[in-house]
Amino acid sequence: MAELEIEIVPVLRDNYAYLVREPASGAVAAIDPGAAAPVRAALERRGWRPSHVLVTHHHHDHTAGCAEIKAAYGCPLVGPRAEAVRIAGLDEGLGDGDTFALGRAAAEVIATPGHTLGHVAFWFAGAKALFCGDTLFVMGCGRLSEGGPEAMWASLKRLRALAEEGRVYCGHEYTETNARFALRLEPGNSALRTRAAEVERLRAAGRPTVPSTIAEERRTNPFLRCDEDAFRAAVGLAGKDAVAVFAEVRRRKDAF
Ligand SMILES: [Zn+2]
Repeated sequence: MAELEIEIVPVLRDNYAYLVREPASGAVAAIDPGAAAPVRAALERRGWRPSHVLVTHHHHDHTAGCAEIKAAYGCPLVGPRAEAVRIAGLDEGLGDGDTFALGRAAAEVIATPGHTLGHVAFWFAGAKALFCGDTLFVMGCGRLSEGGPEAMWASLKRLRALAEEGRVYCGHEYTETNARFALRLEPGNSALRTRAAEVERLRAAGRPTVPSTIAEERRTNPFLRCDEDAFRAAVGLAGKDAVAVFAEVRRRKDAF
């Protein structure tokens, strides 16, 4: 029962939308459709009809396709209640601790403020699949467009605590740059070098680097390691608290 069918849909320049189907009921969620055409094409190819459009946050590159998909299929738009005024046509608002039902599957809604104030992530605990928008990226994290480092660090810690085999489906393909940045911070980290090589191989073959796993991110995502002594020492911030380390590493990434 735990399985979900998941289709990765590249949209715009480097965004990912996702189609998630619960096979027992045939319910399908179209997640973060930053453009309608590629998402509709993927639905047609699969012969699927969306039962819901689901968004993680209000940014245009995650929501621009919502109205057209809603109109074409007559399905409701579901997303963060805290951003209802910024998401046109939102039919159902969800907040931290709510459950989103997709047929027989259920996603826990996790508030992950930091990139935007009302950002949410969807955690399908049964299928161990996380849709985290622009909060956690493969080997990176979102910019602090609205929230501060305290909020983002707290959000990342919550995602880090999910099951280690959890698959991470994020909102952008930024992994090559993220890997280069991680290696700039820790040139001697052999786990990073191995992973960066794997990322390069995938991208050279035209393949996405998603999904990652929570375990891989714990090991090789610098933004999840701000409370690790070895990491703090490597980046010259030994003895600093995790939020200060996170804020400084995020600043360095912004300037990278
Ligand atoms: Zn965004």
